[in-house]
Amino acid sequence: MIPPAYGGRLVDRQLGPQEAERLALQVAELPQLRPEIDQVFDAAKLAVGAYSPLDGFMDAATIENVVRTLRLPNSLPWPIPIVLTPPGRAAEAVVADLRPGDEVALLDTAGRFFALLHFRESFPLDRTAIARGVYGTTDPRHPNVAALATTGSTAVAGRVDLVRSPDVPFPDLEYTPAQSRETFAKNGWRNVAGFQTRNVPHAGHEQLHRLALERDDVDALFVHPVVGPLKPGDYRPQVVVDAYRALLAEYYPPARVALGTLAISMRYAGPRAALFFAIVRRNYGCSHYIVGRDQAGVGSFYKPYACHEIFDEYSVGVTPLRFREMSYCTRCGQMASEKSCGHRPEVRAVTSQTRVRSALAEGRPLPLEILRPEVVAILRQSDPILGLGPVPRADPAEAAEDGSSAPAERRALEPLWTLPATGV
Ligand SMILES: [Zn+2]
Repeated sequence: MIPPAYGGRLVDRQLGPQEAERLALQVAELPQLRPEIDQVFDAAKLAVGAYSPLDGFMDAATIENVVRTLRLPNSLPWPIPIVLTPPGRAAEAVVADLRPGDEVALLDTAGRFFALLHFRESFPLDRTAIARGVYGTTDPRHPNVAALATTGSTAVAGRVDLVRSPDVPFPDLEYTPAQSRETFAKNGWRNVAGFQTRNVPHAGHEQLHRLALERDDVDALFVHPVVGPLKPGDYRPQVVVDAYRALLAEYYPPARVALGTLAISMRYAGPRAALFFAIVRRNYGCSHYIVGRDQAGVGSFYKPYACHEIFDEYSVGVTPLRFREMSYCTRCGQMASEKSCGHRPEVRAVTSQTRVRSALAEGRPLPLEILRPEVVAILRQSDPILGLGPVPRADPAEAAEDGSSAPAERRALEPLWTLPATGV
């Protein structure tokens, strides 16, 4: 069944049009804070219930508890602090004057009033404790640790009311939890497997989708890419969304799959992030949640399967579908993991995002054997990764069209896509 929201009740703090209009007229008289884009998105998600049971930015005691024990003060598992830390001296001055119960206007990055904060308390943010506890490192090469270092040093706690939705990259795909639940129900889906991603899909992802869809206890797949602010090296959200649209349209059963976007910043917290993303997907109505290898990892900060193990320690009311790394075995002639194929690693094609990314970064041919042609076409159309520039034209398909021979790698692995979809 579609599970109830995490903690039992779906938070909904979106104001009606009349209330929003009344507040908009008063905004000039309210103290104002202008959070960074990540926290603009978090404010909106708090108000629509994506982070249920949270209905506001965390106070000091909650953050301390979450960092130390992965639990809210009421003992419900919760792995990631949700903090509001408006940057700059002007913001510090505004915060210093606030008293509990004060209303504060939150402005988006364009300076528009979008949410009302009911101020509870302010306190210095213990960045080192969060870096160590949540991300497991104080290494500034970790993107979230680097971001922590530059955010405001004073945190502000309080409930949030949403006056208007901030701009998101894909308004048509950005469901609220209530909307995705309604969509699932309308389609007759009771058990939906959520899929977290921020990458273009390759054969390994596709295999996880199919394994989930083959299950008796899964009615549908909800592909839910994170499309928040980018850091260099991230795929542009447009490319991820276009690639998924093409993949789903060409290869998946339309009655069993939905695509939505999730405009929040990426938390590369490995196991903690996997748990967090599972909770968020439960709020969007998912009963199951797909966890591949090193989910939400970055570099080599986390053990590849720590993101599996955390679900043994903490139950969040979502069934984790845990899969080992999939690769294309040339002996088996299909995708498999070490759990289902006994062949040597040398006969398996590495099916990893790193391979696609490094090909893009170094201007080498794309690994066509792990990418659908529709996805390759989208990757070629633009500069898919922030900071890299356009994909070089010199790749195997064009070479072949020119009359030169296609690289051996492409010939050898072409049969991959002529196989029927593999079941379990
Ligand atoms: Zn094999």
